[in-house]
Amino acid sequence: HAFEYAPAPESRSVVDIAPSYGLFIDGEFTDAAEGKVFKSVSPSTEEVLSEVAQAGEADVDRAVKAARKAFEKWSALPGAERGKYLFRIARIIQERSRELAVLETLDNGKPIKETRDADLPLVAAHFFYYAGWADKLDHAGFGPDPKALGVAGQVIPWNFPLLMLAWKIAPALATGNTVVLKPAETTPLSALFFADICRQAGLPKGVVNILPGYGDAGAALVAHPDVNKVAFTGSTAVGKEIARTLAGTDKKLTLELGGKGANIVFDDAPIDQAVEGIVTGIFFNQGQVCCAGSRLLVQESIQDELLDSLKRRLSTLRLGDPLDKNTDIGAINSAEQLDRITALTETGEAEGAERWSAPCELPSSGYWFAPTLFTNVTQAHTIARDEIFGPVLSVLTFRTPEEAVAKANNTQYGLSAGIWTEKGSRILAVANRLRAGVVWANTFNKFDPTSPFGGYKESGFGREGGRHGLEAYLSV
Ligand code: NAD
Repeated sequence: HAFEYAPAPESRSVVDIAPSYGLFIDGEFTDAAEGKVFKSVSPSTEEVLSEVAQAGEADVDRAVKAARKAFEKWSALPGAERGKYLFRIARIIQERSRELAVLETLDNGKPIKETRDADLPLVAAHFFYYAGWADKLDHAGFGPDPKALGVAGQVIPWNFPLLMLAWKIAPALATGNTVVLKPAETTPLSALFFADICRQAGLPKGVVNILPGYGDAGAALVAHPDVNKVAFTGSTAVGKEIARTLAGTDKKLTLELGGKGANIVFDDAPIDQAVEGIVTGIFFNQGQVCCAGSRLLVQESIQDELLDSLKRRLSTLRLGDPLDKNTDIGAINSAEQLDRITALTETGEAEGAERWSAPCELPSSGYWFAPTLFTNVTQAHTIARDEIFGPVLSVLTFRTPEEAVAKANNTQYGLSAGIWTEKGSRILAVANRLRAGVVWANTFNKFDPTSPFGGYKESGFGREGGRHGLEAYLSV
């Protein structure tokens, strides 16, 4: 069928982006000590959205001092009082969610369908969830006298800017810690809007400090002697560097790093449902997801049928303007990320894998990559081993459940996996043998604030979310 395409653009004017933003320290927006600024660019158009102050070492020091000062009073508040602030923040996020969704889409490049229906509801849910914990900590079995650690230094990536902020800030504040957070250099804007929400909620000064900037600011924050807890989400290389920096200190550390998740489809799986799950697994957020199902393991006997259906489905995905409510595939977050994806797919072809890309027209400006899959992939191929962090699926096959488990576990990572089968007993047997922090059954990329999330092996350590997410911010 040829459908008449009717664009349904979300209105850009719902969000008011200032031409420039400062750092958020001690409840005020301020210039960087060295006066440096950088530009935040919309990846779908390459338009400059705003000019943002760039934090350096002196700013990190100032922010940590503000957080330290605020810690005295904040940690001494009754949990119920801290909870009230968090509930207030959660409600303001809900009230301003349309504005925040549009902002996130502009700054990150992801479709409005995702920011509106996934990112923002989950951000609010995390604040509500941890708000509810604040007054229960003393009685929830954490030990006789759980204490906040102090100042938390948090460094987050660009793939879920606001959601990663929520995962980090909500549990830190609920437990009585204060925060200095550095958003990623390509997506600083929603964190700065969040700073404004903290003011709107009347949060005491210095409890949350936001420092936009580059890796040097992240490194200075992590190394600052007055930071007690470090939480990092990003690349495995930087995670390892942080672990080395913190070796020999008493700082608590959680790392949430890369992944190469296996999505395992058995021959009894409902094919249409599996196809939707594969699409969600690797094309949600253009595949820029640490727990993406980037390796499809399909049982040999259904390979042809499954791939035919999958290709037909991929041909219907709409790539383009992320503000259009019909858009399925938005822009890649940056030129650097697009280069990385392009280079890895070229390696895939050079090593002999067979490439297929969805037939879609790429816009002339911005950073775009068509949904792509590779067949004839072996475990030795680079594209079966390295995290691509883009809309690229590597397809491998297996014959027996044992072979599926062995192949799924044959990776340096261990963040996520998926299983598709009608047999409940097989789900349990296979899931228990997968070395992955989360295993989804007959679904993929489902999140919930009550569930702990985190990795095995080089995907990092520590858990965020749920009751376990609080432990990272407490000492007993
Ligand atoms: P990155 O690890 O370089 O950046 C993540 C965050 O860490 C950013 O805020 C960055 O400014 C900061 N940072 C950089 N160097 C630092 C240092 N030495 N000390 C402290 N903080 C530092 O990730 P990237 O360059 O944006 O992406 C590279 C690759 O990382 C991607 O291709 C992908 O494979 C992976 N990645 C994973 C996740 C995830 O959710 N696990 C997120 C983003 C990227």
